[in-house]
Amino acid sequence: MKILVTGGAGYIGSHMVRTLGEKGHEVVIYDNLSSGHRDSLLYGRLVVSDLADRETLRILLQEERFDAVIHFAAFIAVEESVKDPLKYYRNNFSNALNLIDACVKYGVNKFIFSSTAAVYGMPEKMPVTEETSLLPINPYGASKMMTERALRDVSESAGLRYVALRYFNVAGADPMTRIGQRYREATHLITLALRTALGERKSLSVFGTDYATSDGTCIRDYIHVDDLIDAHLLGLDYLAAGGGSRIFNCGYGRGYSVREVVAMTKKVTGIDFPVADADRRAGDPPVLVADSSRIRGELGWRPSRDDLEFIIRTAWDWEKKRRELHL
Ligand code: UDP
Repeated sequence: MKILVTGGAGYIGSHMVRTLGEKGHEVVIYDNLSSGHRDSLLYGRLVVSDLADRETLRILLQEERFDAVIHFAAFIAVEESVKDPLKYYRNNFSNALNLIDACVKYGVNKFIFSSTAAVYGMPEKMPVTEETSLLPINPYGASKMMTERALRDVSESAGLRYVALRYFNVAGADPMTRIGQRYREATHLITLALRTALGERKSLSVFGTDYATSDGTCIRDYIHVDDLIDAHLLGLDYLAAGGGSRIFNCGYGRGYSVREVVAMTKKVTGIDFPVADADRRAGDPPVLVADSSRIRGELGWRPSRDDLEFIIRTAWDWEKKRRELHL
């Protein structure tokens, strides 16, 4: 297939581009390089442009005749989205509409969308099914929910079919250490724990130790980036076979507490880095675990990296390399 990958120079997008390239697909990457990196691209041709630039999008989609679009390009920092909501609505929603519009106009009828468990907000029942009410509690989650809604409505009125994947906590890196997370301002637990182990940060804060969970810290469903990429491939195959629009959770269906992640990070790195208990972080649900029976049943998703140690080891190997190369 000939596939357009927006945000393909970013963390998850670059893993997608790698796999599509390895499988022999023709890949064009659309990325403004605001947080992505040209040298994260192992395959494909890069168009450096912003999704706000409708004219560039129009010309590209008109000329290239893509079979499918995989849309990763978005901002992802929850706290920043609270401080600057319009930045999130503009990029994650309005710019997504530009892309969807161009797809409809130029006949790209298969669309894979990176959504998030943040669309659920603070769900009460665990694990979370796709039928759970969408009650996002920050502009980031709201911007993704709005794009999902737009896709739903457009897919009912036009020929576009989509698969929206609601990611839980994505972590880990390419096992060959070619690519991985490169955000300087990382906020995610595993990345921060590893950077503390590397000595780049003084101490790791545990946000909240009085939750009603087994050890008082929050529980999350961590999924290896390459199992997530497999889910995208299955979504593509499903749409290529004529499948209708569908939404799937992407998580393993089991959770680990912050303390368990910290303990595993110490084991993998062999470094007893400093950890300090801290106050709760605003807006954190105590437990967030996916019910992934829909994607397993309907797409036959069989994740093969459901192993916290493997997730952290691949991320650790990457973090060491990133530091060595000053990336
Ligand atoms: N967390 C933490 N210390 C950190 C970063 C995160 O204790 O320095 C906790 C956070 O409160 C949450 C869990 O780790 O309970 C996962 O947070 P992350 O930001 O990685 O992902 P989120 O679940 O917010 O998408």
